[in-house]
Amino acid sequence: MLEEHNCEARVYDRFGGSNCSRRGVVFEDDKWWCRQHSPSATKARREAAKRRSDEDIRQHEQGWKQAHERERRANCFNELVAALEWIDTYLANQPLDQQAKFLITEKVKEALAKAKNT
Ligand SMILES: [Zn+2]
Repeated sequence: MLEEHNCEARVYDRFGGSNCSRRGVVFEDDKWWCRQHSPSATKARREAAKRRSDEDIRQHEQGWKQAHERERRANCFNELVAALEWIDTYLANQPLDQQAKFLITEKVKEALAKAKNT
Protein backbone atom coordinates (compact mmCIF):
# COMPACT_ATOMS: atom_id res chain seq x y z
CA MET A 1 0.00 0.00 0.00
CA LEU A 2 1.29 3.41 -0.96
CA GLU A 3 1.96 5.83 1.84
CA GLU A 4 0.00 9.08 1.53
CA HIS A 5 1.46 12.46 2.36
CA ASN A 6 0.01 15.87 2.93
CA CYS A 7 1.31 18.96 1.13
CA GLU A 8 3.93 20.75 3.29
CA ALA A 9 2.83 24.22 2.27
CA ARG A 10 1.35 26.72 4.68
CA VAL A 11 -1.56 28.66 3.23
CA TYR A 12 -2.90 31.93 4.56
CA ASP A 13 -6.26 33.58 4.49
CA ARG A 14 -7.83 36.38 6.51
CA PHE A 15 -8.18 34.07 9.52
CA GLY A 16 -4.51 33.13 9.58
CA GLY A 17 -2.32 30.28 8.37
CA SER A 18 -3.02 26.57 8.07
CA ASN A 19 -1.56 23.57 6.30
CA CYS A 20 -2.52 23.01 2.69
CA SER A 21 -5.24 20.36 2.70
CA ARG A 22 -4.23 18.69 -0.56
CA ARG A 23 -2.29 15.48 -0.92
CA GLY A 24 1.43 15.66 -1.49
CA VAL A 25 2.08 14.18 -4.93
CA VAL A 26 5.37 15.90 -5.84
CA PHE A 27 8.54 15.17 -3.86
CA GLU A 28 11.00 18.08 -3.93
CA ASP A 29 13.54 19.41 -1.41
CA ASP A 30 12.94 16.32 0.76
CA LYS A 31 9.25 17.16 1.23
CA TRP A 32 5.92 16.31 -0.33
CA TRP A 33 3.86 18.99 -2.06
CA CYS A 34 0.65 19.26 -4.01
CA ARG A 35 1.12 20.26 -7.66
CA GLN A 36 0.37 23.90 -6.91
CA HIS A 37 2.80 24.30 -4.00
CA SER A 38 5.90 22.40 -5.13
CA PRO A 39 8.95 24.70 -5.09
CA SER A 40 9.40 24.28 -8.85
CA ALA A 41 5.72 25.16 -9.57
CA THR A 42 5.89 28.13 -7.19
CA LYS A 43 9.12 29.32 -8.84
CA ALA A 44 7.65 28.91 -12.34
CA ARG A 45 4.53 30.91 -11.36
CA ARG A 46 6.65 33.66 -9.82
CA GLU A 47 8.86 33.85 -12.92
CA ALA A 48 5.84 33.95 -15.25
CA ALA A 49 4.36 36.80 -13.20
CA LYS A 50 7.69 38.64 -13.37
CA ARG A 51 7.84 38.20 -17.16
CA ARG A 52 4.29 39.59 -17.49
CA SER A 53 5.18 42.49 -15.23
CA ASP A 54 8.42 43.23 -17.15
CA GLU A 55 6.49 43.10 -20.43
CA ASP A 56 3.85 45.51 -19.07
CA ILE A 57 6.58 47.93 -18.01
CA ARG A 58 8.34 47.61 -21.37
CA GLN A 59 5.11 48.30 -23.28
CA HIS A 60 4.28 51.24 -21.03
CA GLU A 61 7.74 52.76 -21.59
CA GLN A 62 7.52 52.17 -25.34
CA GLY A 63 4.12 53.89 -25.44
CA TRP A 64 5.50 56.81 -23.47
CA LYS A 65 8.51 57.13 -25.81
CA GLN A 66 6.25 57.06 -28.88
CA ALA A 67 3.96 59.72 -27.40
CA HIS A 68 7.01 61.83 -26.53
CA GLU A 69 8.37 61.46 -30.07
CA ARG A 70 5.00 62.42 -31.61
CA GLU A 71 4.89 65.51 -29.42
CA ARG A 72 8.48 66.43 -30.31
CA ARG A 73 7.69 66.16 -34.02
CA ALA A 74 4.44 68.10 -33.67
CA ASN A 75 6.30 70.86 -31.83
CA CYS A 76 8.71 71.47 -34.74
CA PHE A 77 6.07 71.18 -37.47
CA ASN A 78 5.34 74.93 -37.82
CA GLU A 79 9.05 75.79 -37.92
CA LEU A 80 9.73 73.18 -40.60
CA VAL A 81 6.87 74.47 -42.74
CA ALA A 82 8.03 78.06 -42.26
CA ALA A 83 11.60 77.06 -43.25
CA LEU A 84 10.37 75.30 -46.39
CA GLU A 85 8.19 78.26 -47.33
CA TRP A 86 11.16 80.59 -46.84
CA ILE A 87 13.36 78.39 -49.06
CA ASP A 88 10.59 78.20 -51.68
CA THR A 89 10.27 81.99 -51.79
CA TYR A 90 14.04 82.50 -51.71
CA LEU A 91 14.62 80.12 -54.62
CA ALA A 92 11.96 81.83 -56.70
CA ASN A 93 14.01 85.04 -56.56
CA GLN A 94 17.48 83.59 -57.03
CA PRO A 95 19.33 83.41 -60.34
CA LEU A 96 20.30 79.77 -59.85
CA ASP A 97 21.07 77.27 -62.52
CA GLN A 98 17.63 76.31 -63.89
CA GLN A 99 18.16 72.56 -63.39
CA ALA A 100 19.28 72.99 -59.74
CA LYS A 101 16.44 75.43 -59.09
CA PHE A 102 13.89 73.01 -60.55
CA LEU A 103 15.15 70.04 -58.51
CA ILE A 104 15.31 71.95 -55.23
CA THR A 105 11.91 73.57 -55.78
CA GLU A 106 10.31 70.20 -56.54
CA LYS A 107 11.69 68.74 -53.31
CA VAL A 108 10.52 71.73 -51.26
CA LYS A 109 7.04 71.75 -52.79
CA GLU A 110 6.68 68.01 -52.29
CA ALA A 111 7.67 68.29 -48.61
CA LEU A 112 5.36 71.28 -48.08
CA ALA A 113 2.40 69.50 -49.69
CA LYS A 114 2.99 66.48 -47.45
CA ALA A 115 3.43 68.58 -44.32
CA LYS A 116 0.37 70.74 -44.99
CA ASN A 117 -1.69 67.78 -46.29
CA THR A 118 -2.58 69.55 -49.53
ZN1 LIG B 1 -0.40 22.43 -1.37
